[in-house]
Amino acid sequence: MSNTVENVVIIGTGCAGLTAAIYSARASLNPLVLEGPLPGGQLTTTSEVENFPGFPEGVDGFQLTQNMREQATKFGTRFEQALVTSVDFSSMPRKLVLGERTILAKTVIIATGASPRMTGIPGEKELYGGKGVTTCATCDGAFYRKMEVAVLGGGDSAAEEALFLTRFASKVYLVHRRDELRASKIMADRAINHEKIEMVWDTIPVEVVGVPEGSVSGLKVKNVKTGAESVLPVKGIFVAIGHIPNTGPFAPPLEVDEGGYFKPQPGSQVLTNIPGVYVAGDCSDHIYRQAITAAGMGCQAAIEAERWLAEHGG
Ligand code: NAP
Repeated sequence: MSNTVENVVIIGTGCAGLTAAIYSARASLNPLVLEGPLPGGQLTTTSEVENFPGFPEGVDGFQLTQNMREQATKFGTRFEQALVTSVDFSSMPRKLVLGERTILAKTVIIATGASPRMTGIPGEKELYGGKGVTTCATCDGAFYRKMEVAVLGGGDSAAEEALFLTRFASKVYLVHRRDELRASKIMADRAINHEKIEMVWDTIPVEVVGVPEGSVSGLKVKNVKTGAESVLPVKGIFVAIGHIPNTGPFAPPLEVDEGGYFKPQPGSQVLTNIPGVYVAGDCSDHIYRQAITAAGMGCQAAIEAERWLAEHGG
């Protein structure tokens, strides 16, 4: 174990982690960023980002995270590829265990994101990203103007995505495996009664059609009650069957809610039950899940870490 005690260790290189890095590096805290299996986070899987302020022409998701990374590097951020397997926050300094190694830190910002739950059907992986399968209507909905699309899922996310997509798509199929939505009544009623949304009940997706051509041309589905298979003629498929927050190695000791998301202290988005340990981005946000909101939380976490270090010796 190295005896070096880092001022700030940031875990994750999505919008939240990189924004925390920019702020803490600029505050001369010499942050160390640990980069996990998907450098740049979920944004790198989106082609065009049209709603990040400051880019009136839109910006490529990968490029946006590259820009943030460059900005963080310019102010002295250090990056290391490493997977945190467990933590010991019971004493100071805080300990981050990476297999055989341990990193010591005065403050820790956890920005590990969440992974969209996927169906795993054939064609989904191959056509994910700019090829027709996506997990974010807010990000990609506008690309499907006057086209037919399908939304998979029956929760609030699926209902919300389907309703949002009615602004662009000519028709939205809401494909759910049961005959009743899990979504709140108000959202469910809105979706079911919308003239552009067709409910496809008791139905599971079977295959994304279009792999040889390189873009989605349909969705093969199966009615679980009758066994009948059919193809929905859609160009876009929005998977909204929940997310899996990447909080495993940290909880406990950090508190999480019933969905596994970090549970910040009341009145804060980033303070946790452990002093000097902060959370930011999609690992603690199942409501907004936007690049700009993740960036905002990263900024808050960095400012909190800076204040903690000023009070406790940085
Ligand atoms: P969720 O509530 O867990 O719903 C996931 C949906 O996907 C369920 O309908 C589930 O079906 C279906 N599903 C799961 N695995 C599947 C599979 N392998 N194949 C097919 N379908 C599958 O997730 P969520 O909609 O993302 O919502 C997460 C949380 O955020 C909830 O607490 C929700 O209320 C909240 N949220 C709130 C808002 C809002 O208030 N505006 C918006 C979005 C999310 P079953 O129903 O059969 O289990």
